[in-house]
Amino acid sequence: MAADLLRDLPDIPVQPVEDPVLAAAGISLSVLRLDLVHPVISGNKWFKLKYNLARARETGRNCLLTFGGSWSNHLHALAFAGAEFGFRTTGIVRGELPDPLNACLQDARNAGMHLSGISRHDYGRRHDPALIADLEDQHGPFHLIPEGGANIEGVRGCSEIPVLYPQADFDLVCLACGTGTTLAGMATTSKVPLMGFQVLKGQGYLAGTVRGMIRTHGLTERSPWSVDDTFHFGGYARVSPQLMHFLTEFQARHGIPLEPVYSAKLLYGIFALAKKRDIFPQNSRILAIHGGGLQGLRGYF
Ligand SMILES: *Cc1c(COP(=O)(O)O)cnc(C)c1O
Repeated sequence: MAADLLRDLPDIPVQPVEDPVLAAAGISLSVLRLDLVHPVISGNKWFKLKYNLARARETGRNCLLTFGGSWSNHLHALAFAGAEFGFRTTGIVRGELPDPLNACLQDARNAGMHLSGISRHDYGRRHDPALIADLEDQHGPFHLIPEGGANIEGVRGCSEIPVLYPQADFDLVCLACGTGTTLAGMATTSKVPLMGFQVLKGQGYLAGTVRGMIRTHGLTERSPWSVDDTFHFGGYARVSPQLMHFLTEFQARHGIPLEPVYSAKLLYGIFALAKKRDIFPQNSRILAIHGGGLQGLRGYF
């Protein structure tokens, strides 16, 4: 039974992207298509859930509880993972539940997730043991998975991402960052330098968060890593006409679907830095991690 807990991965393509902008800058780019890991439990969320499900099984908890915004990829993936592997799931949603539910939350409910909206104020207390204790009184015992899958099990799962591509073929690996869990996990195993593209606004905060995650869990960094905090487009889930134009053009030209919250900001950032010429060394071979999350597109089109 436990054998099916997110162990079997299909082959994940490393897809080259031929583009005149990159060619002019002397850069080669490929995309690791983690969006193809699973039809629903997609991208880095698969890796973050893997050891969380195992942990819940080990500790005999058959309910998983998590937190997320109303378009959370994490909440969406967790609802499906719970249904597939026999866990009850509860999603604590920031703010009132929209009525009718949006497509993301409707999917989660259809997968059997119990949804509960809490005030933004209470949502801000999501790490507070008193709030967790209240939730335990209301919902019974559960295995808690923090927002975005940002715990040690999540970090551990993400540390397995670098084995999916030939590391010797790349000089730099770029990825989009929300909580920074994926970057933290990858930094503990990667042989190639990493560059995270922060999708939330806030100068310089994420590097501290990632460093904190690595240290708190007693892990060691194996590769140099950095965070670019300039391609958030005004903040989490904010977009601009240029970003949406880039997304549409990129999909049409390269046949790789993007969504605006993470992957479009990542690729936009890579192209913008390539144009600047002085950031990536000449002849850099760059790999971009596609983090999945395409369900979120439905909030934009
Ligand atoms: C959740 C998510 C991320 C961010 O991952 P973190 O580990 O929270 O930094 C990036 N891309 C996509 C598509 C995601 O769904």
